Amino acid sequence: MSEALLEVNHLKKYFPVTEGLLNRTVGQVKAVDDISLTLQPGETFGLVGESGSGKSTVGRTILRLTEKTAGEVKFKGQDIHSLSSVELRLLRPQMQLIFQDPYSALNPRVRVGDAIGEALLDHGLCSRHEVRELVLESLDACGLSAYHIDRFPHEFSGGQRQRIGIARALILNPDLIIADEPVSALDVSIQAQIINLFSKLQRSKGMAYLFISHDLSVVEHLCSRIGVMYLGSMVETASRDELFHSPLHPYTKALLSAVPVPIPRLKRERIVLKGDIPSPANPPSGCKFHTRCPFAVEVCKAQTPVFRDAGGGHFVACHLV
Ligand code: SF4
Repeated sequence: MSEALLEVNHLKKYFPVTEGLLNRTVGQVKAVDDISLTLQPGETFGLVGESGSGKSTVGRTILRLTEKTAGEVKFKGQDIHSLSSVELRLLRPQMQLIFQDPYSALNPRVRVGDAIGEALLDHGLCSRHEVRELVLESLDACGLSAYHIDRFPHEFSGGQRQRIGIARALILNPDLIIADEPVSALDVSIQAQIINLFSKLQRSKGMAYLFISHDLSVVEHLCSRIGVMYLGSMVETASRDELFHSPLHPYTKALLSAVPVPIPRLKRERIVLKGDIPSPANPPSGCKFHTRCPFAVEVCKAQTPVFRDAGGGHFVACHLV
C-alpha cells in the first residue's frame, strides 16, 4: 500500500473548564479522546456521529485550526502540529476545509470571484492576470458560470453557495478536503446534487475527503470507509459495505436503524436511544455509551472496551463483540 496521505494517531483534544475570577481550571471537556484513523490518497473517509460527538473538533485539530492536547497528525509524513507557522502556511493550500454554512464563510461585501481567487493570491500561487481564468475554471467545475463571478453572496441560493465554497477550496488544487457537514443545511434534493458534485470532482481531480456528517445516509454513497464516533471516541470503523450490512456496535446499529431504505421489507427494526448524548465534561464511566445502550451489562459500567480488530479491518469497541 502507498504511504498514507493522512495519519491520525491517538489524537486528543481537551478544552479546560474554568471557574471564578481567576479562571481556575476545574475540569476538562474531552471533545476528542484518543482518535486514530488513516486516509489514503484519493480515498473518502466518512466520520459520523450525533451532534456533540466531537467530529468537527477532529477536523479542526487535524488542520491545526486548534492545537491538539496529545497524539499525532501526519500529512504526507509531516507532523502538522510540530511545523512552524511558515511551514504550516506553505502546506495549507494542500489541506482545505469546507464549512456547513458557506454563507457565514463568505464576506457579504466581497464579489464571489474575488472570494474564490483571494487564497491563490494570498499564497502567491498565481499572478493577478491569471486569477480570473483560474476562478472561471473552478466555477465551471462546480457547475457555476462566468455570469456568477461578479455577483455577491446574497444573490445565491444555499446550494449555489455551497458550490462557491467547494470552488474556493478546489482552486488551490488540494490533496485533502475536510468537509464538515457540507450538506446538512441544504434541502434533500439539493443535498443529492452537492454529493454528486463531490463525487464527480473526486473522480476528475483525485483528492481525498474526510467527510463529516451526523447522517449515515449522506456518507453512504460517497465514502469507502466510515468511522462512527460517540462522545469523543471512535466506536466502530469499517468499509462502507461492512458497516451497512454487518454493523457490530449497538450505537452504529441505532444510527443505521434511522436510515431510510428504498425497499420497505429491508427496513431495520428502529432502535430508539434513551436520552441525549451525555456531556463530554463528565462522560460516563467504562463504556461511554452504557447509559443509553439497550444491551449494557454490568462490566460495561466499570471497564472501557478496547477498540480492536474484529476481523478483516472491521474495528469496534464493545465488550459484547
Ligand atoms: Fe453497549 Fe456494553 Fe457494548 Fe458499550 S460495551 S456498546 S454498553 S454492550
